[in-house]
Amino acid sequence: MNILTFDIEEWFIEKVYFGAKESKYAEYDRLLDEILLKLEEADLKGTFFCVGKIGSDFPSVVRKIAEAGHEVGCHSNTHQWLNKLTYEQAMEDTHVAVDSLEQCIGKKVRSYRAPAFSIGNSNLWALEVLAANGITCDASVFPASRDFGGFPEFAKMEPTVIKYNGIELHELPIVTTKILGKDIAYSGGGYFRFFPYRFVEKEMKRTPYSMAYFHLGDLNPVFSGVLSKDIYERYFDEPGTLKARYMRYIKTNLGVKSNKKKLFKLLGQVKFTNLAVAEELIDWSKTPSITIK
Ligand SMILES: [Zn+2]
Repeated sequence: MNILTFDIEEWFIEKVYFGAKESKYAEYDRLLDEILLKLEEADLKGTFFCVGKIGSDFPSVVRKIAEAGHEVGCHSNTHQWLNKLTYEQAMEDTHVAVDSLEQCIGKKVRSYRAPAFSIGNSNLWALEVLAANGITCDASVFPASRDFGGFPEFAKMEPTVIKYNGIELHELPIVTTKILGKDIAYSGGGYFRFFPYRFVEKEMKRTPYSMAYFHLGDLNPVFSGVLSKDIYERYFDEPGTLKARYMRYIKTNLGVKSNKKKLFKLLGQVKFTNLAVAEELIDWSKTPSITIK
C-alpha cells in the first residue's frame, strides 16, 4: 500500500513571509491545477494536509482540492513546529485549524500531519491534542532524526496503533531505507528530489507500505535567493547565520527544476491511495500496536 500526501502551505507562507505577491499566488494556483489534473488522469486520490489559515484566507484553494475528490487533512493552523508550542498553544492551534478546514469543506477532518514532522519523544502530549480535536489518523512520525523533529525511537515503519495516556491513534509513518547502515527517507521532499527516480520507484514497489509526501515547493522554487537573516529567523526560529541560510537555500532548491517530471512519472507508475481510504482498508486489530508511557 502506497500512500500519497501533499503538504499545502505555500499561499500562507507567501502571505506571511514573502510579501503576498499576486504573481506567486497565481503560480501556486497553476501548479495545484496541474497536480490535480495529473491525479485525475492517473485516477489517484491523495491526502492534502492544508494549513488552517489557507482554509480561512484562501478557501478556494482548499475547496478545489476537496471538490476533486481528495481528502483534506490538517497541517496545523500557522505552520509552527509543535515542539515549539506549549500544550495549550498546540490545542488552540489545532482546534482553530480543524475548525477552519471543516467550515471550508463542510466535512469532518480526520487526518493530520505536523509541520516538519514535529512530533517526537519530547512532545508526546501532541498525540492527546490530536485525539481531542477529532483526529483519528496521523502521519507525523518520521522514524529517524531530522532538522526539526523526528522520532528515532519509533521502530515500526508500517501502520501502527499508538496508545498513549488513554487515547488511541492510527499512525501512518514515513518509511526509511538502509543506506550505508543509516536510516534514510527516500519517498518525499528533498529526499525524493535527491535520489534517482528508478531507486524510489523500485523501493515503493518492493515494500508492502510506503508514504510519499510532497510540497508545491518541491516542484517550484519557493524563494529564488538566499533568505535574509530577518526572514530566516522568523520562519525557522533559530540563528540565521550565513552558513545556515546557504545550507537551507541548497536543501530547498536541490533538484526542484526537474522534479515535476519525476513526480508525474511516479504518479503514472505506482498505485497510490490516501489516508482516509487506507484507514478503512487496514485491519487495525492485526497491525502492530505500541503503548507509550
Ligand atoms: Zn509543512
